Amino acid sequence: MGDIMQSIFENKTMKKLLLILTAVFLVTTVIWLSQSSEKYRFDKIADNVYVIHGPLDEPNPENRGFMNNPGLIVGKSGAVIVDPGGTYQVGRMVLKKVKVITDKPIVAVFNTHVHGDHWLGNQAIIEQYPKVKIYAHPNMIEQAKSGEGERWVKLMHDLTKGTSDGTKPTYPTKASTHLKVVNAGGEAFKIHHNITGVAHTNTDIMVEHIKSKTLFMGDNGLLHRHGRFDNTSDMHGNIKVLEYAINLDLDYYVPGHGPTGNAKSTVQPFLSYLRIVRDEVKKGYAKDLADYEIKPLADKKLTPYHDWHGYKSNMGKHIGKMLSEIENLDE
Ligand SMILES: [Zn+2]
Repeated sequence: MGDIMQSIFENKTMKKLLLILTAVFLVTTVIWLSQSSEKYRFDKIADNVYVIHGPLDEPNPENRGFMNNPGLIVGKSGAVIVDPGGTYQVGRMVLKKVKVITDKPIVAVFNTHVHGDHWLGNQAIIEQYPKVKIYAHPNMIEQAKSGEGERWVKLMHDLTKGTSDGTKPTYPTKASTHLKVVNAGGEAFKIHHNITGVAHTNTDIMVEHIKSKTLFMGDNGLLHRHGRFDNTSDMHGNIKVLEYAINLDLDYYVPGHGPTGNAKSTVQPFLSYLRIVRDEVKKGYAKDLADYEIKPLADKKLTPYHDWHGYKSNMGKHIGKMLSEIENLDE
């Protein structure tokens, strides 16, 4: 009898605790949503095409994991989102901003690659629009489901000090095909896979909105902000993909992070950065220099990039990564 009473008591306490935790979660989310309503907005970049240019900082308690460039395309029968952000909270914020532009339902979402800052916001979209189709590279879906999703949720929890809690990996539902045209909401989109297979990651797609001649590049395109090149990346591949993007000869290019512009203003700077890194490392490699010896030489050639967010913490690693790629190519 005593045991039963105790378990009923524990059950009630647990329920109370859960209720309190849920209430705290909802209240803090609502407060953050109202605070962020001033800060972030969809910028119009072309007819019916909008981008929220996210902050360039790392995920932190203040931004709740918001750091990417969510895109919105409004068609006759529905709206489409590219990369709805890095947490459940960010996804909700993006939906709130969509409502300022249109009442049309979200009918499709594109996730440009496996990094969670671009797609964990799917959760908020599916919650509100359960029938939404979410497209991504088949490798993205496979990797997200086999651990990357959970790893990113944990990473966001750590970096935002728990303010992203409640975020759960919500996976894409449709695998994309290279050059396939996807129709959604009355608009047509062409999906571009990496031509070399690997660039920023081996899960990248670039999404072309055909009517407005806009390319959402994901993190193959960066401006004013450096990112990591991890084990699944290929800097040579990234150079080729950016050349490919420029050759598409479109009017608007949306980077994964940083301001939208044309090929010259938005694609060329990062392409030139990668080419300088490649050429300096090639020269150093020919002289048998180590990465730490190449670094100061490259640094002098990279002065236009010194003020990019994350230059100091990433440049040395980029040299090391490029050197290992060049060594491998030489074998
Ligand atoms: Zn990325």
